[in-house]
Amino acid sequence: MSDMAQMRDNLATFCDFRPLGERERAAVRRAQGAMDELDQIPCTNCRYCTKVCPTGIPIPSVFDACNSLTVYGDREFSRKDYEFATRDAGAKASDCVGCGSCEAACPQGLPIIELLERAAATFE
Ligand code: SF4
Ligand code: SF4
Repeated sequence: MSDMAQMRDNLATFCDFRPLGERERAAVRRAQGAMDELDQIPCTNCRYCTKVCPTGIPIPSVFDACNSLTVYGDREFSRKDYEFATRDAGAKASDCVGCGSCEAACPQGLPIIELLERAAATFE
């Protein structure tokens, strides 16, 4: 919050706060279950990998495009996302030299090299 108006707005939101009921919580659990069934890459966008990548591949953005394809199935949309991110960074998934620095830095233990190979096969 950066001013009084924003603070008042936020306070008003929670003045009449009512927690979710059982039916609503059940709906949230169903939605979580449906999302869990999708095979998304569990990248948290912490960007530790990009700090150590010698080729400057925008790894989390590449994974965003992969996940968007998994969730929405719109290949053209996801390919544009991929192209935008890699053009901006000046490096694409197939530029990976397999040094492994990113995998050593990734707190999620993701098999980044293999995932980038898949992304290159999908989008390039
Ligand atoms: S393995 Fe590939 S993506 Fe990972 S740091 Fe090395 S060049 Fe970058
Ligand atoms: S270090 Fe791992 S979790 Fe973090 S942005 Fe890179 S790939 Fe994603």
